[in-house]
Amino acid sequence: MDHLILPLSPTTTSNRWWSEETTAVVTGANKGIGFAVVKRLLELGLTVILTARNVENGSLAADSLRGAGFRNVHFCCLDISDHSSIAAFVSWFRLNFGVLDILVNNAAVSFNAVGENFIKHPETIIKTNFYGAKLLTEALLPLFRRSVSVSRILNISSRLGALNKLGSPSIRQTLENEDLTNEQIEATVAQFLEDVKSGKWQKQGWPENWSDYAVSKMALNAYSRVLARRYNGKKLSVNCLCPGFTRTSMTGGQGTHTADDAAATVAKLVLLPPEKLPSGKFYICLDPEKIMSRL
Ligand code: NDP
Repeated sequence: MDHLILPLSPTTTSNRWWSEETTAVVTGANKGIGFAVVKRLLELGLTVILTARNVENGSLAADSLRGAGFRNVHFCCLDISDHSSIAAFVSWFRLNFGVLDILVNNAAVSFNAVGENFIKHPETIIKTNFYGAKLLTEALLPLFRRSVSVSRILNISSRLGALNKLGSPSIRQTLENEDLTNEQIEATVAQFLEDVKSGKWQKQGWPENWSDYAVSKMALNAYSRVLARRYNGKKLSVNCLCPGFTRTSMTGGQGTHTADDAAATVAKLVLLPPEKLPSGKFYICLDPEKIMSRL
């Protein structure tokens, strides 16, 4: 496991590879980190598709950005836990934009407050945080531009899903394997849900903190590595970022920094110049200028 520190130089006009033709999609962007990422990318001059599962909340969020003077923001409804919503979104996107440069899989749910560790809706968490991001990504893969620059997928993950949170050496070994497959990831997730159902999950070495959420993010990290390997050398970079403890509704407003701070890091990472852009890494935000790779 490497611990690479990646300094993020200021996003200046001199290292710009993008323009307003560069198109980014952000999920779960009506509030929190997603909304802040949309705003930051608009400030930097990209065209951004703000998506949200609730039409009213998403429209209001996009209107507020238009009201602030951003012309290149577009809204489309997208519930990542719903296949038909993903299909409708991808059709709409293909018709209206055709090509995609950046996907930020940000939408996620947790049903725990900070400090709690109940398992309430594990299927919903896995379906949203892991399968939602995966199915949307797979549906959008044919639309990535992959010519003008390296296209980019950034999955917003969590350090709670880092492999060192696993007490089970065998699960860890499976997920760490260089030849890991999507089938193995799905089998691991299914095993977790099975252990929850049979009441055995606490003895099986799954993460102890926000367990269902942690497993969903662990699976997302693993999928990202498999996808990065599939697109190695094919002008598509796939990384994960833990934004750090951020003051949003997910944390009940607690945290060490704001959603705007987290969004500044997200924007720097997805806008790195093509020659400096890593792939297959899991990054942890240390501060807006520095992130650390844990894989
Ligand atoms: P918020 O709860 O503020 O925002 C989550 C967003 O995801 C909301 O817009 C929510 O929509 C949306 N969402 C939930 N389910 C779906 C769905 N099925 N389809 C589409 N959108 C959905 O949380 P944060 O901004 O804090 O979280 C953003 C990301 O950062 C998440 O991936 C989270 O796991 C990650 N993260 C956050 C940390 C933190 O400290 N805040 C730490 C580590 C990771 P709605 O408003 O309709 O509920």
